Amino acid sequence: MIDMAGINTHGGLNGQPRTWTRLYLAAVTSLVLLSSIPIVLLCTHQPESALVASGTATVDAERTSLGPAPIVSTDGIPLTIERNMLPDGFSIAKNTEVVLTDGQASVVKAFGDYLAARGEWAVVTSGKRTSEGQLALIKERITEKGAAAKFPKLEEASILDTKIWLKAWRWLTARHVPINAPAPVPGENVRTSMHLQGLAIDLISNNLDHLRSMLANFSRSEYAGQAQLHITGIVREPGCVHINLG
Ligand SMILES: [Zn+2]
Repeated sequence: MIDMAGINTHGGLNGQPRTWTRLYLAAVTSLVLLSSIPIVLLCTHQPESALVASGTATVDAERTSLGPAPIVSTDGIPLTIERNMLPDGFSIAKNTEVVLTDGQASVVKAFGDYLAARGEWAVVTSGKRTSEGQLALIKERITEKGAAAKFPKLEEASILDTKIWLKAWRWLTARHVPINAPAPVPGENVRTSMHLQGLAIDLISNNLDHLRSMLANFSRSEYAGQAQLHITGIVREPGCVHINLG
């Protein structure tokens, strides 16, 4: 398993706790894998690194308390323990691989305050993305669509191999796969993501239509005034609610 090395490093000090920890982590890892499948397909961006990071977070939680406890990221946002699941006692959290700029984090915190005041919750599934991360996503989508053989050079392609990924990206968009290009291309009509500029966030909850209307209400509330950036657009996507910031 991907996190066995982590367990050996951080696990219990003697036989029984470590065995318990292994069983517990095996169960949690299975749950994480099972529960993440539908949303990973739709609305997350680096599932592999996410699963590794998620396992690490669980181990860290084991180390600091008897049961899994939420960890707060350096940006002040609590991290999920189970991917896409809100930890107890919080109104907002982010998946472990999500990177937020200070401006994005200030919006997430303000929205968390708004949610807490209403007994509601949300989980952040994407913040600032890199061009490399976006290219990795294109590679994943091509593989999911069974089209890897059509683009034999794609797997090894870097951001500089514009011609290679541009073909694959156009193939996906022609099939209505919602995905942005990893970088702008001079002279080409290429749509890039506001996530690359740190000006977009994706969120989920148990009811995305409700989440969408809460974000709209939040953007007009005094809570939004605490944040460094403001919501300039809200899009209900298939597996998440996407907001643009400015
Ligand atoms: Zn988005």
